[in-house]
Amino acid sequence: MARERSIAHRVSSLRPSATVEMTEKVRAARAAGRRILSLASGDPGIPTDPRIIEAAHGALKAGNTRYGPVLGDAHLRQALALHENRRSGASYEDADIIVTPGGKFALLTALMSIVGPECEVLVPEPGWVSYGPCVQLCGGTPVLLPMLDQLDLAAMETALTDRTVAVIVNSPVNPTGRVLQRSEIDGLVALAERHNLWIVFDQVYSDLVHAGAFPTPQATAKGRPITFVVDSFSKTFGMTGWRLGYLAVPPQLAKPVSRFIQHSIYCVPGAVQAAGLKALQIYDDVIPGYRAVFRRRQQEAAARLNAVPGIECKAPGASFYLFPHVDADDRALAARWLDEHDIATVPGSAFGKAGSGHLRLTVTAPDAEIDEALRRIETMGVR
Ligand code: PLP
Repeated sequence: MARERSIAHRVSSLRPSATVEMTEKVRAARAAGRRILSLASGDPGIPTDPRIIEAAHGALKAGNTRYGPVLGDAHLRQALALHENRRSGASYEDADIIVTPGGKFALLTALMSIVGPECEVLVPEPGWVSYGPCVQLCGGTPVLLPMLDQLDLAAMETALTDRTVAVIVNSPVNPTGRVLQRSEIDGLVALAERHNLWIVFDQVYSDLVHAGAFPTPQATAKGRPITFVVDSFSKTFGMTGWRLGYLAVPPQLAKPVSRFIQHSIYCVPGAVQAAGLKALQIYDDVIPGYRAVFRRRQQEAAARLNAVPGIECKAPGASFYLFPHVDADDRALAARWLDEHDIATVPGSAFGKAGSGHLRLTVTAPDAEIDEALRRIETMGVR
């Protein structure tokens, strides 16, 4: 008997992305004529600056329409190395930067390069919904570890086996907006060094740290050679649909890692990279303004939510997320708010068991929409 046609287990077994599903739900409800107030979107809601659009347009008109270098445009890689060095104090050469279609593909590139079948990867939770599935796509097993308020290095150590090859760490954290402290980063680097692990460090919200230090593993002498850094233009510049990000790799690894790029995407479109170069050139002009808006909205929303009985909410030090604790079943509450009050949120348990009892809210909608959503929440509470 002939085999049935089927979708490979590695894809069919993946859990759908809860955040993408919520975005699609909101899109469908709006298309059906409902006015949904969204506190759910991970898209910063910033229109791409016209100078960035013009740069892409100019590149296309100038004929930048062909295959380009696999690792990315030389000028963009140089600008990214400088950007990374300026921000984290790390030391990157242009040669260590790989331009990718978004941060998600940078993550997949790193994991494809270091995770084989049977390998295990430690993933702190609550954490971004794609870490586990990306590890699975590489044939590995994500080992999910609950650690809501700080990295639990002892729990990581206990979870190690002889198959553990890496740990994925995100700062500022999606969904909580927390910035990891220096002591956590130092402990992480020491643990990774001691046990021959790679660190995959996802910093796609690093440009939205409101104040103070932003500790990174790659800025430490021992962390730099063992850390893959995932970053993106999406959240920083309002460029989610452009699909532009990068992977900063340990010394000498760009060449072997580039084989995955060669045999998958080949390269990121040249016009998109020209847009990225322009974005970095106008960074100082635009980013402080975006950051200030998100900080103000987060602080105002946190204060209002905190005054609602049954909700406890801190204003985090970065990003555009809030992760309030709610005295309710988070999945039931999110469903009720959407179905009965037209407010979209994401239940905290979508980010792992450690997130249950919380909602992930974003302050990316226009001020008036956030205000109206908060007014409804103030009226109805967690019922
Ligand atoms: N990492 C984290 C923590 C995220 O929240 C996201 C997007 O939501 C990404 C990576 C990927 O973003 P992109 O692929 O748009 O760069």
